[in-house]
Amino acid sequence: MSLRSRWLSRPEDRVEGWLTRHHQERVLAGETKPVGPCPDESFLQSLARHSNQIAFTDPRVGHAANCPICMRRLLELRPAYKARRRRMVLTAAAACCCVIVVALILVARHGANPPRTVPDVAAVQVTVDLWNAGTLRGDQPSPLKSVTLPATLAKVTIILPRYSGSGRYAVAVTRDRTGNDLLAHGSATAIGSGDREEVSIDLDLRNLQPGSYFLSTTHEQDQASYYYPLQIK
Ligand SMILES: [Zn+2]
Repeated sequence: MSLRSRWLSRPEDRVEGWLTRHHQERVLAGETKPVGPCPDESFLQSLARHSNQIAFTDPRVGHAANCPICMRRLLELRPAYKARRRRMVLTAAAACCCVIVVALILVARHGANPPRTVPDVAAVQVTVDLWNAGTLRGDQPSPLKSVTLPATLAKVTIILPRYSGSGRYAVAVTRDRTGNDLLAHGSATAIGSGDREEVSIDLDLRNLQPGSYFLSTTHEQDQASYYYPLQIK
């Protein structure tokens, strides 16, 4: 037994249903005496809709409940409203389905063909060999190793100077040797290759004007920075 039929089978509902039908028959047969004039069509439509804006103390409700003309109109309107409510519910449900379907299509398309963002700029592979940089030759330090990098997105592999320790290194491009004007930087853990340590980092040098700069390496553990003259071309 469905919920609705169980609901309707309650004795008080059966009595109420019978009273309603009996009353309707009496009204339609002209056995009741309505008070006042017939309300307008919009009021009857609201009443048929069970509008919450109508109070049952409204004298027009009392009139319509006892007027054969108004009762007939209400009985005509009620199925129409029921059908319309059903249609509205179905339309709303269909609209929801459409939204879901459109969303699914968009997700499917998005997944199959992701929107294009900024075109990938291929990073230029550059190796900077600092193996012999800064080593002492006799009492004279060798001239500072000068480094050249292109003004592009660069994947820079730095071969660290001889005797460099393992661990993490910060690499920076600065305007001067104070290191205050940081233009590009990255950090990575040095990878040992034989007795050499190499650090690979991505540096975005696209906004740099060609000219003289400094490349620094800082061992993150001992915070010792080494600066190398850098030419951006
Ligand atoms: Zn009436």
